[in-house]
Amino acid sequence: MKEMQAKTDTRHYGQFGGQYIPETLMAELQRVADAYDKYRNDPDFVKELDDLLNNYANRPSLLYYAKQMTEDLGGAKIYLKREDLNHTGAHKINNVIGQALLAKRMGKTRLIAETGAGQHGVATATIAALFKMDCEIFMGKVDTERQKLNVYRMELLGAKVHPVTTGSMVLKDAVNAALQEWTSRIDDTFYVMGSAVGPYPFPKMVHDFQSVISKESKQQILEAEGKLPDMVVACVGGGSNAIGSFAEYINDPDVKLIGCEAAGKGVNTDQTAATIERGSVGIFHGMKSLFLQNNDGQIDKVYSISAGLDYPGVGPEHAQLAELKRAQYVGVTDEEAVQAFEYIAKTEGIVAAIESCHAVAYVEKIAPKMSKDQVIICTLSGRGDKDVASIAKYRGVDIDE
Ligand SMILES: *Cc1c(COP(=O)(O)O)cnc(C)c1O
Repeated sequence: MKEMQAKTDTRHYGQFGGQYIPETLMAELQRVADAYDKYRNDPDFVKELDDLLNNYANRPSLLYYAKQMTEDLGGAKIYLKREDLNHTGAHKINNVIGQALLAKRMGKTRLIAETGAGQHGVATATIAALFKMDCEIFMGKVDTERQKLNVYRMELLGAKVHPVTTGSMVLKDAVNAALQEWTSRIDDTFYVMGSAVGPYPFPKMVHDFQSVISKESKQQILEAEGKLPDMVVACVGGGSNAIGSFAEYINDPDVKLIGCEAAGKGVNTDQTAATIERGSVGIFHGMKSLFLQNNDGQIDKVYSISAGLDYPGVGPEHAQLAELKRAQYVGVTDEEAVQAFEYIAKTEGIVAAIESCHAVAYVEKIAPKMSKDQVIICTLSGRGDKDVASIAKYRGVDIDE
């Protein structure tokens, strides 16, 4: 982004966040922020949002007591927050419904979005179909080749998919292309941001729309156990399912919050996506946050077996929670995540997304060290059907996709 502008006010999370964007987008972001302030407590908006979450997306999601895992690991009681059971198979729909509803209220008729593996693109195309809106998805060319099935799925839902050929042709380049497209056409277009990242008000909107996860889990755990959990664990890419899982517990200091980053081949290798552990402060994609970058501020190539965690930055609120030590962030390797993918399938009969299995792997490590009267909630951010072929390949089994 060439013309940079920073604002210092409530748009920040400590030193992180802000709006580092071209001048032309500044006024539009303000309109989005104003519209969000107007509608977020508007009874009709809230009613329509709740109705769609409950009757279209299949909420509330279950908080499932994982009895076999608990007995097998022999420590803390483990509950799984089942975002994998949502329509379209992950937590992303919670956020997309909220942002698309806001777009409609603002009189927009066209949704654009970036996507990496295609999960956010599919969720956005789904809601665009439901709302009869135009939809265009920006996806790195490399990713369109790796994720052909999701490209076709988006097209089936009526979206147009643009392969992005700039940079390394992956997710970060798709975000740049989508921001650029938005800049050139703001009158009828709303940019549906896929994670708790980007310039204000996106991190706040995504936080709020995903906090339905912890609003539900808090009520559910109080009903099941009569007390708050000792620990909440979630995987972190940009950080949307994690911030949604943490939100209602941030002011409960006795609840430990653990974010699991993708360490790839290892936190100390150059094939990693462990942004918080390994990154440094920088400005990219409209926000100040932590990024994997070289000494010149060039964004590094990142790597993880999980396409959904393969992002070189993290949302600004997580950067702040890490700095304040309110949440702790740990790296989980490909190998540990694959092992957890197999473990939860065999012990609980759940094929969970490889992203989510980064959180499951940490639970496997920590639960045996905790006592039997302690409680962990682990978010399963999505279902793992999409990963079966690539995990088979990782294990040396070649199956036709
Ligand atoms: C996209 C995705 C993630 C990572 O995104 P966050 O914004 O960090 O939640 C994690 N799990 C699944 C299943 C995803 O689709």
